[in-house]
Amino acid sequence: MAPTTLLDISEVHKFYANHHVLQGVSLQVPEGTVACLLGPSGSGKSTLLRCINHLESIDAGRITMDGTTLAYEERNGQMHQRPRAKVDKQRQDIGMVFQHFNLFPHYTVLQNITLAPSLLKKASKAKATARALELLEKVGLADKRNAYPSSLSGGQQQRVAIARALAMEPKVMLFDEPTSALDPELVGEVLKVMKDLAAGGMTMIVVTHEMSFAREVADSVVVMDGGVIIESGTPAAIFDNPQQERTRDFLRHVR
Ligand code: ADP
Ligand code: MG
Repeated sequence: MAPTTLLDISEVHKFYANHHVLQGVSLQVPEGTVACLLGPSGSGKSTLLRCINHLESIDAGRITMDGTTLAYEERNGQMHQRPRAKVDKQRQDIGMVFQHFNLFPHYTVLQNITLAPSLLKKASKAKATARALELLEKVGLADKRNAYPSSLSGGQQQRVAIARALAMEPKVMLFDEPTSALDPELVGEVLKVMKDLAAGGMTMIVVTHEMSFAREVADSVVVMDGGVIIESGTPAAIFDNPQQERTRDFLRHVR
């Protein structure tokens, strides 16, 4: 049996003023799979992730997660914006990790991870702490629980950011160039955490320029250019036998 589609992105359009940044993007991500999103700078990758997580509203199309439309609901045959509280609730199912880790500098590692579950999920302190320690174990940073972000390396901070996103128990994790700001020697430790997460069955969309990661971990590779998906397929299909000249051109530049 084919896995069910967890995230269904259908004909999504996004404008910034007159700039048509997403021009009808459709993408299905089955549960438990990893989609790696590639493409040149300015092609709309970050915008797509920000629309999925509803940091940005979409102008047309539909994004459905686990059978429920994100941010909008249909009433009398028309789409209406959901109330803010409902949208915020939906957003909790979508974890996001950015290029810059954005940890709260005045909180310890442990506090960074327990803050959102305590506030938003009303988790008890004991429960939130136990879960956070479990996650820190998972990302290899249990010994750093009481450290402040500024005392950590970039790779360690990014691993904390991943643990923080996981603390909300999201159904899907979005990564926007999570290793692009790191010194080269720190990239591997973050990719390893992401690889483990994928192996554990997390559904993920990863914008990355790490081609070896995409080849090894992705179930599907999706190539964007100019606000549209120009090509998608298995890593082997995209890397060894790209059909589009623009894909070949892009791959020549990142290899
Ligand atoms: P990518 O992540 O693939 O590099 P982006 O999604 O960041 O691409 O950007 C796609 C296009 O949208 C670019 O032309 C960019 O300049 C434009 N853009 C992105 N964010 C904004 C914004 N907040 N306001 C106006 N234009 C934006
Ligand atoms: Mg980007």
